[in-house]
Amino acid sequence: MINSDERAEMQMNPGARIVLLGRQGAGKGTQCVRLSRHYVVPHISTGDMLRAAVREGTELGKMAKAVIDAGQLVSDEIMVGIVAERLQADDASTRGYILDGFPRTVAQAIALDEITQDQPVGMAIDLVVPRELVLSRLSARRVCRDCGANYQSTGVDPSPWICENCGGDVVQRDDDTPQAINNRLDLYETQTQPLIDYYGQSGRMFHVDGVGSPDDVFDRLTKVVEGQI
Ligand code: ADP
Repeated sequence: MINSDERAEMQMNPGARIVLLGRQGAGKGTQCVRLSRHYVVPHISTGDMLRAAVREGTELGKMAKAVIDAGQLVSDEIMVGIVAERLQADDASTRGYILDGFPRTVAQAIALDEITQDQPVGMAIDLVVPRELVLSRLSARRVCRDCGANYQSTGVDPSPWICENCGGDVVQRDDDTPQAINNRLDLYETQTQPLIDYYGQSGRMFHVDGVGSPDDVFDRLTKVVEGQI
């Protein structure tokens, strides 16, 4: 259900079709939640969708668990199928979407352009944060098992740790081990960085500095988005 604040925001904001790129730990999750509220469009995170499937023990979840925990990528074919289905839902087809974690390979980006021909991705934004900084953020990262909200461990954490947003359990992700983190960052360089050229060729690539407070980064992001929509 849409509440009255959201209705007012919808009248102010025309929606958006955005892909957010950026290294693991760059703050995509945090910023996507804010952007999604601001532009009243669904935040579609393939990582969250896969983790939900793992928790629910679906066929997809069973297949994906070992791949995710090792820091590898789920196959393009499966990922494209999941996203294609999600984009058909009313919210995405009427308002747009903010994609987080997809596309992650050039093959996925090409497939995405094919399935969104009527409502193509308007812009891809690279949230730029150096590798050394994301490494330290990721080892302290904790997430809500239910809503995906992100937290940082200080070393003296509440126990049990309850999410401020939804009351879910705040935990360390199984794939936030040093080995899996390094695998994911290496894969980001080889598989995902080429997307910057892909979106650049069609004039849809933008870069935003992701270093700074969440509020500062959000301000930078909305300036770039509003220049385009
Ligand atoms: P991170 O950005 O920290 O890697 P995500 O939550 O985006 O975390 O994704 C977690 C895992 O889910 C990935 O390491 C990968 O195994 C899988 N995954 C998510 N999105 C995709 C995708 N588009 N293609 C392939 N695998 C994916």
